[in-house]
Amino acid sequence: MDKWPIGVFTSIDAGLGVHMDVAQELGIRTVQVHAPHAGTRNQAAADAFLKRTGDAGITVTCVFGGFEGESYADIATTARTVGLVPAATRSARAAEMKEISDFTRLIGCDVVGMHIGFVPERGSPDYKGLLATTQDLLDHVAGNGQRMHLETGQETADHLLEFIGDVGRKNLFINFDPANMILYGTGNPIEALKKVGHLVKSCHCKDAKWAPEGQRGTGWGQEVPLGEGDVGMETYLRTLKEVGYDGPLTIEREIAHDRERQKADIGHAVKLLTDLKAKVL
Ligand code: MG
Repeated sequence: MDKWPIGVFTSIDAGLGVHMDVAQELGIRTVQVHAPHAGTRNQAAADAFLKRTGDAGITVTCVFGGFEGESYADIATTARTVGLVPAATRSARAAEMKEISDFTRLIGCDVVGMHIGFVPERGSPDYKGLLATTQDLLDHVAGNGQRMHLETGQETADHLLEFIGDVGRKNLFINFDPANMILYGTGNPIEALKKVGHLVKSCHCKDAKWAPEGQRGTGWGQEVPLGEGDVGMETYLRTLKEVGYDGPLTIEREIAHDRERQKADIGHAVKLLTDLKAKVL
């Protein structure tokens, strides 16, 4: 595969991604895909999916897990409901993530991704529980010959590094999303990328504007079309180059309620990234 193939975040039947046919229409050759619903993670579904991507000449680079009951309504709700952090659903979700890893193997992909949630403070009982669950999950993922990539944004770069170090597994890496750092108010994305770059194995190309001063970290920033936010796409790509990143540039535009605009914005993002790649690479 060429360096920095352009990709898009898609979904089969769940999540915020675009439908696969949009990727095909836009001539995009790599996708990350939101895992299908429980009940459709079987060989027949995998075969149908592989036929579809094969016909379209599309390679799946990562399968993202997501769970019933997660809500990104506001930052407090996200902290309460997302990933493996909430203790009440932790073991059930870890079991489901193992099933997603097994499905991912059926479609011949060696990467799963997820939002693990707002990682609690180091040393707290919740932190220890999360560590044990994550280690067990990663061992299962390794058994499928896979890596797991954690999405950034819900914690600072330093805390994420601390957590990954404490987990202590060789198949745990990062899916870097610069816009999330802004949306959640967890730090300057370029500085964060410099810190965690050695662990970044996949990334999202997404843009956002900071929440007003005084509301960062409690109120959402605003997700906007690529190139119109505060990330600085050229600087982002230059920094990806600097840290030695050579994986896909996966466009993410989380406005599933407006499919027409989502498609148009992704079309513009492809053009922007194509131009910037020619300039930066
Ligand atoms: Mg993302």
